[in-house]
Amino acid sequence: MSNKFVYLFEEGNASMKALLGGKGANLAEMTNIGLPVPPGFTISTDACRAYYENNKSITPEIIDQITKDFKSIEEKTNKKFGDKVNPLLVSVRSGAMFSMPGMMDTILNLGLNDETVIAIGEKTDNMRFAYDSYRRFIQMFSDVVLEIPKFRFENVLDKYKEKFGYENDTQLTVDDLKDIVKDFKAIVKKESGRDFPQVPNEQLMEAVNAVFRSWNNARAIAYRNLYDIPHNLGTAVNVQSMVFGNMGDDSGTGVAFTRNPATGEKKLYGEFLMNAQGEDVVAGIRTPKSIEELQDIMPEVFEQFSVITNNLENHYKDMQDIEFTIEQGKLYILQTRNGKRTINASLRVAVEMVEEGLLTQDEAILRIDPKQLDQLLHPTFDGETMKMAVPIATGLPASPGAATGKVYFTAEDAVKAASTGEKVVLVRKETSPEDIEGMNVAQGILTSRGGMTSHAAVVARGMGKCCVAGCEMVKVDEDSKIFAVGDIKINEGDFISLDGSTGKVYPGSIKTVEPTLSGDFAKLMSWADDRRILGVRTNADTPRDAETSLSFGAEGIGLCRTEHMFFDEERIPVVREMILSETLTKRNKALNKLLPMQKKDFKGLFKVMKGFPVTIRLLDPPLHEFLPTDEKDIIALAEEMEMNVSELKEVINSLHEFNPMLGHRGCRLAVTYPEIAQMQTRAIIEAALEVEDEEKTTIIPEIMIPLVGIKSELDYVKEIVVQTAEKIMEEKGKRTDYLVGTMIEVPRAALTADEIASNADFFSFGTNDLTQMTFGFSRDDAGKFISEYREKEVLTDDPFQSIDVDGVGKLVEMAVKLGKSVKPNMKMGVCGEHGGDPKSVEFFNKVGLQYVSCSPYRVPIARLSAAQAVLKNNGTPGSDQR
Ligand code: ADP
Ligand code: MG
Ligand code: MG
Repeated sequence: MSNKFVYLFEEGNASMKALLGGKGANLAEMTNIGLPVPPGFTISTDACRAYYENNKSITPEIIDQITKDFKSIEEKTNKKFGDKVNPLLVSVRSGAMFSMPGMMDTILNLGLNDETVIAIGEKTDNMRFAYDSYRRFIQMFSDVVLEIPKFRFENVLDKYKEKFGYENDTQLTVDDLKDIVKDFKAIVKKESGRDFPQVPNEQLMEAVNAVFRSWNNARAIAYRNLYDIPHNLGTAVNVQSMVFGNMGDDSGTGVAFTRNPATGEKKLYGEFLMNAQGEDVVAGIRTPKSIEELQDIMPEVFEQFSVITNNLENHYKDMQDIEFTIEQGKLYILQTRNGKRTINASLRVAVEMVEEGLLTQDEAILRIDPKQLDQLLHPTFDGETMKMAVPIATGLPASPGAATGKVYFTAEDAVKAASTGEKVVLVRKETSPEDIEGMNVAQGILTSRGGMTSHAAVVARGMGKCCVAGCEMVKVDEDSKIFAVGDIKINEGDFISLDGSTGKVYPGSIKTVEPTLSGDFAKLMSWADDRRILGVRTNADTPRDAETSLSFGAEGIGLCRTEHMFFDEERIPVVREMILSETLTKRNKALNKLLPMQKKDFKGLFKVMKGFPVTIRLLDPPLHEFLPTDEKDIIALAEEMEMNVSELKEVINSLHEFNPMLGHRGCRLAVTYPEIAQMQTRAIIEAALEVEDEEKTTIIPEIMIPLVGIKSELDYVKEIVVQTAEKIMEEKGKRTDYLVGTMIEVPRAALTADEIASNADFFSFGTNDLTQMTFGFSRDDAGKFISEYREKEVLTDDPFQSIDVDGVGKLVEMAVKLGKSVKPNMKMGVCGEHGGDPKSVEFFNKVGLQYVSCSPYRVPIARLSAAQAVLKNNGTPGSDQR
């Protein structure tokens, strides 16, 4: 820490945000490029940290520096603090590195007291203005420093307005204002037990103190927790000479964006008020005028403002959000920052700025937050209706989008209701594969359990459907068909609305708006595609999903989960028959029935994917997932299978597992039931041969063996696959190339990846399971504690959302190295949910994978993230990239 704590605006610049805060750094930058910024200085974030180290008091050294710079403002303005003839007034403005609502509000007109107010009034020949400023100052100072609630003062104002029948506070007369000041001072005395401070220097030091103190108020801490802002940054304080927008009808104040923040249109967009100060514009006291009207009222000022805003945009090369004040016809700029905007505006601004020559394509690509692309592909809530909505609960934002519908608690009920044309929301404790149909017809899905990779979350993302998962506050009673959040009860058939992008649950119905894709989107994505090295594939199980993903730019299927095809109404009985067969002959009979169905599925996928690679995973989940749990269903199945009920129950019981995720699944199934792997291989190879013939394309199916941890597991299952494939090709007298690879999703596989590589054509990292097994966190139960882990900062990120670089990432990196030491050109990709997470994509780019695979609706996010990963590495990918 240097011993300089206070910087004149002339001494700073835009790059000093950590030290001067965002507001201070930009005030300095604007001063130095010659804009009309009232003179001032910034007390740095170092000073804030020193304040906390010094028992929450401002050190004498810092006070000295403040005093010195204060003199400099006095000289520049030719005014003196506390002077009885020509007093200087200042604003005290907080400003941290990241803009943080919840921090201290700005104090304006500091330096006013019973004497300077008269001086100001005489000097400007406007006593009304002087007392208007004084009452504002008392109000703001009392709120911020003395912590007296604002409404106490607002009540007084309202009382006066009512008494005299005024509509606007501009109608208050000087005598009214004098009385108001008296009343305000009485409130201060009563609430704080002291007189309103009259010595300007004391006012200043108390204000600076209050800003530093506010860094650690509850609101600010909560905000930092929410947005992952470190708590030790501290805030800066800006002290700036006042200019006055409330000096009469030739004065005013306002805010403007250099482009429209909703649409991105290149046109000044903003509002202002004449004869007003500070936050009057946003406070809604009077209705502000649109910025264009300034052209009529003050054409010269408008012209000057247009030039300045244009220059600022060119200077920062980004859309600016600018605060200004006009004092008696003279324009001052009080703040600029990069403007917040919708994703549509982001894209339009970025693309148009490239066309205008303001940005390079690289810069434009880096401007877009990939996660925001989600908003483009899903419905969103109508902004107006949303303003009134109050959420009743918050869960995990598992799959983005907005949904409104009537609540149903079982897939069956949801399907029934949807078939009559109702819009439904499926609410369950957690979903299972049996719920697929219900999920499919629902607008959105709400679960009270499970994390970001729970069944509901993964399937909903795949469907591009809104889902709020792991919403622990919601108590679901599936039997009584009711859910409760505290005292609020929601019954079957009641409307609720879900925001899958925030995890919020709202009562009642909220209007939704369908998304549209603009030409700007396509343009930006094509620039991204030119730069990225990582391929982007999708996780798709059906031709429909595959088609969606192609339209979003997918270049292959990285994961087809064959079991999802088993839940179809027609197939599930056959699947059950297969599982329940006690003899190989019986099982083969059932498998023979499944064969043509699977073959048809694969043909469908191969056709849609038109020669793009398709990775098909052999059966993965534990078998009991396919069996019924309801008494009623069990009885029906027993009848169908011609078994007696108790016999069937015994079989079901025998399939019960204590830890199914660590149980009889993945390649373990193929080792015990080779005939299942044989059937699936046959379906894949026959489908490939037929599509090659029918479509005259080359298909190279990639057969993937899940959950391998031991090389001999891979050897065993691969042998089955290869023998089957060779036999079929011999039968048919036709050949196709095919690959047999493995998932790396068990830590042991990562640790022994060199051995495993020697018998694998490719690796696909299943980072969901790898995360689950590396942490020992059950992915279906982790929702319960991960949010609390994050609140308590035991974890900063949910490792199921963003890859844990230090642990799971290390395993990935190691497996890549080990694998390449045996087969330098081996194809490696990722098929976990992390493939659609920007931070994780950056990591996968760095370790030199060839592709990521994610759910269809995340494909654009992955494409953009992959390009950004390259650009962030200065164009050089990971050292051992292909
Ligand atoms: P916020 O961070 O909430 O935007 P600011 O510090 O920007 O707070 O202050 C809010 C408003 O107060 C500004 O937009 C401006 O209108 C007014 N203001 C701040 N400093 C001055 C000043 N020196 N002269 C005149 N008005 C000021
Ligand atoms: Mg501001
Ligand atoms: Mg897995």
